[in-house]
Amino acid sequence: MYKMMTPGPTQVRENVRMARSLEFQNPDLDADFCEYYKETCLLASELLHTKNETLILDGEGILGLEAACASITEPGDRVLVLDNGLYGESFKDFVTMYGGIPTLYTVDYDKPVDPEKLAEYLKEQHDFKYATVVHCDTPSGMLNDISKICPLLKSYGILTVVDSVSAMFGEEVRADDYRIDLLCGGSQKAISAPPGLTIVTISQDAKDVMNQRKTPIASFYANLKVFEHYYEEKWFPYTMPASDIYGLRQALENIKNDPEHLKRHAKVAEKTRTTLKEMGLTLYPHSGYSNTVTTFEVPEGFTDKEILSKMRNDYNILLAGSFGCFGGKLIRIGHMGESANEKDVDEVLQALKEILGK
Ligand SMILES: *Cc1c(COP(=O)(O)O)cnc(C)c1O
Repeated sequence: MYKMMTPGPTQVRENVRMARSLEFQNPDLDADFCEYYKETCLLASELLHTKNETLILDGEGILGLEAACASITEPGDRVLVLDNGLYGESFKDFVTMYGGIPTLYTVDYDKPVDPEKLAEYLKEQHDFKYATVVHCDTPSGMLNDISKICPLLKSYGILTVVDSVSAMFGEEVRADDYRIDLLCGGSQKAISAPPGLTIVTISQDAKDVMNQRKTPIASFYANLKVFEHYYEEKWFPYTMPASDIYGLRQALENIKNDPEHLKRHAKVAEKTRTTLKEMGLTLYPHSGYSNTVTTFEVPEGFTDKEILSKMRNDYNILLAGSFGCFGGKLIRIGHMGESANEKDVDEVLQALKEILGK
């Protein structure tokens, strides 16, 4: 087994794996399961500092993003797509797919979105139903300041769809304080459960928009409204993946029982950045570093494949390259969730020193 130091999936603790192997009942017929599901959703809301309802959907992170867009987009809706990374840009596809008209707000991919410049832009242009915001754009390791961006958008009545799949629980997320309408996460990143589940928190404003639609939501699986009365009716729109949810619950309990988890992420991330710079490597984003993933440029004289395969074959460590416009150019170290621990990060840094001869 390789030591997984990728920006998702991440390492999974034994108690999460054990929880997934427990006996389960038919989740469609067992009222206790409905209670368990709801309690798990409430725990997620609590950890994300929101009174908004959380739903757990049976699909990995991408399903949450698509469901958020599908549920609030109607044909002709204008949507602002904040684009300073690959996930940022690709939100336009979900918007378009459900009939919306995306307007890209594109800025350099090596810097975070500057809330002051965005404020200037919004003074002129703010006729948008909602905006899409990526918290940590994982292929480049770019962190956007959602604590400033989301309240700013909301001050113009623009709802926000936030992809915090690779940031939540490694970076602070206070959904109510930031006034986030739809906040998306995935089980396989800092939550540190295996891939397979997505969570979405939904504000009252987002629910109002869904309820006031003139056209039906053009999806079933990516439709948040189909969960509307699940608790009162004890009826899920489709059979819930009970074992996955047992694992998720344990992973969320682990986070709750580790009140220092954000500090731990900050500490290992800082150490990773400092050490890489001491080795003469260049970090990719020039500001806006995420505490969940560190990205550096492939140094001259090496290829990404060579570094990654040596890490794998000689040190048994799995790191990630990147893709799209960053393909071949960047290496990514994931230090999120269970992987955000000093011992493993030290091992990664030592191996890199040896491979790069520094
Ligand atoms: C991982 C991730 C997702 C989910 O996509 P996967 O197909 O699971 O990789 C969505 N958004 C971001 C920013 C991610 O890092």
